[in-house]
Amino acid sequence: MSPTSSPLPSPLRVGVFGAGGRMGATVCRAVADDPHLELVAAVDPHHSGLDLRQVTGVDQPLQLAASGEAFVEAGVQVAVDFTHVEAGRENLYWLARHGIHGVVGTTGFSEEDYEGFRQKFTDSNCVIAPNFAIGAILMMRFAEMAAPYFETAEIIELHHDKKIDAPSGTAMLTAERMAAASSDWATDPTTDVVVPGARGGDGPTGIRMHSVRMRGMVAHQEVMLGTAGQTLTIRHDSYDRSSFMPGVVLAVKAVVDRPGVTVGLDSLLDL
Ligand code: NAP
Repeated sequence: MSPTSSPLPSPLRVGVFGAGGRMGATVCRAVADDPHLELVAAVDPHHSGLDLRQVTGVDQPLQLAASGEAFVEAGVQVAVDFTHVEAGRENLYWLARHGIHGVVGTTGFSEEDYEGFRQKFTDSNCVIAPNFAIGAILMMRFAEMAAPYFETAEIIELHHDKKIDAPSGTAMLTAERMAAASSDWATDPTTDVVVPGARGGDGPTGIRMHSVRMRGMVAHQEVMLGTAGQTLTIRHDSYDRSSFMPGVVLAVKAVVDRPGVTVGLDSLLDL
């Protein structure tokens, strides 16, 4: 290096909560593969003590730890959370208390949770996205743009058979954004429900939400909109968990410069 050239920035030190899970393990691999990020700690209580290599396939001499204390010891700057809603809530409060930035994919948080996170993240930042697939972000944006031109809309989300919350966070966010974009929705004509639940869940402003849980699927969503003589269907499919990784990596790099709590990836994509 010449005396005048500036030193290369050090890679961001990243930790992963839920590293033994399906998404967490994929995140570990994505972080390890990015030259600007360094995977320095991984936490998953029920897998603690196991080699990272064994659990995630990442060839790095790390052991999974039982708690976030491992992040403090490893000097983690950004922690990614893909766990379950109760664990995720606790993990987020813990990160806020320790001044560590959070990138969160865990779904199922309520409005009250978001409010709590907004109050607590004062010394560090947090990006929470119920869907990190960039195609899904565009699907939500397109649905929101279409909403004022249609009077009826229903959302069908389809996921793998291990998903425990319904409807998905993406479906909820889509419905909320469509409801905010238009108040002119037709009422449901159904007066006789033969099988309970046949019309799905009653989402924001009456937008019906249907959740399919099926082996072989990953994460899919269809937004159907209808008006006189025409329908519009917007569909997104994640066939593999790798579909979420460009969004996760983008958020990990961006969160450091985004004060407070950012919900969704739209602002990171300039949408
Ligand atoms: P998963 O395979 O069950 O993984 C979750 C992992 O977190 C499990 O290994 C679990 O251990 C572990 N865990 C539980 N409590 C923990 C704690 N306190 N600290 C650290 N780890 C803990 O689930 P998944 O399919 O990866 O999904 C995880 C979450 O991501 C879900 O909420 C899902 O809806 C969401 N998701 C979001 C996106 C997105 O784009 N935002 C995409 C896909 C999935 P045990 O199994 O032993 O409890």
